[in-house]
Amino acid sequence: MEKDVLVQKERGFIEKFMVPQMYDLFRFGGSSVKDDEMGMQRMLQNFSGLFTEEQLRKNMEKYNLQKMFGVVKEYFKKEYGYAGDSIILSNNYQHTINSYIYNDRENPAFIHIDELFESTVIAFLLSMFKWSKDFGNLEIYSECFKYVLFLMNDVCIFGKMQGTDANDVLLGLVSGDIQILQLAEDCYWTIVVFSLAHEVAHAYLAYTGRQYSKQHPEKEEYNADMMAYHIVLKIIMEKEGEEQILEKYTYLAPMMYMDFFDLYYYTDRVLYKSRLSDPQHPWPVDRKNRLFAVVNKDEYDFDTVDGNHLYSGFLDVYDEYKDQVLLKMERGKLDKILHTERRNRMRCVKV
Ligand SMILES: [Zn+2]
Repeated sequence: MEKDVLVQKERGFIEKFMVPQMYDLFRFGGSSVKDDEMGMQRMLQNFSGLFTEEQLRKNMEKYNLQKMFGVVKEYFKKEYGYAGDSIILSNNYQHTINSYIYNDRENPAFIHIDELFESTVIAFLLSMFKWSKDFGNLEIYSECFKYVLFLMNDVCIFGKMQGTDANDVLLGLVSGDIQILQLAEDCYWTIVVFSLAHEVAHAYLAYTGRQYSKQHPEKEEYNADMMAYHIVLKIIMEKEGEEQILEKYTYLAPMMYMDFFDLYYYTDRVLYKSRLSDPQHPWPVDRKNRLFAVVNKDEYDFDTVDGNHLYSGFLDVYDEYKDQVLLKMERGKLDKILHTERRNRMRCVKV
């Protein structure tokens, strides 16, 4: 009998059919480097006077991964009649910014959101928004560019968690700028909900037998994206007032998430002449275009002015980053940060 095992690794290198004993390895593999208490202390130092410890603690109770997962399940049930009750969340550090779902139909299915994903996405948004806001400030311009480059080069390509030193640089950069912190945090949660919903969508498609053939895996990805974005937009539109968890102006955050992957692949191409081959996943730009087709539908009706404004500033910086990386690379100014041998070794390793 054919083993019915489904592992969807998102936006990454691998799609693999695995034997069930891999379950434990995946489910419990990795370690945890997260330290909420320390994170809070450092936040307080950098934003002293703006938050109290109690405010921060309340914020962490309202916004956390488990809570968001609960909301995603609630909306899946409401919108698609599928609760995905048995799906659990895994959240260790497995050195990947790609989230995935593991479903072997014997063990409980789980969705993995890596700690690396969390810290990288929030850092990316902080540095991009700060850069966009203070574009004319040469020092901030330069620091933000370097930080995004560091995230792409060291963190995304090599799966290395930002160290405390790096985090301190970033926090110093946005120190006291509560607006940037707020924007980054709000967009971050929208991206988290989108990612979780995308993975639940894979489980739903498997459950309803609507998985696509191996010849067209990209169709399933588009489908999962569209369902996930539908869920995000519904939450944005319906959960208001006291209940509100996602801000309206963050409605284009899933596009930023695609742009994040686009910059990651772009940096890899420019620095290491690498081209990811991933037959399962369509290119981020194509996925983004599909998302635009979703949000342009009449059924999604809400105020989009602030969201468009934020995204347009983001795109300016996104273009600027691409230009600068290419220019600096051509002029040999990035030689010192290249890890070419390591990158070549990675190519030989089949995971
Ligand atoms: Zn997927």
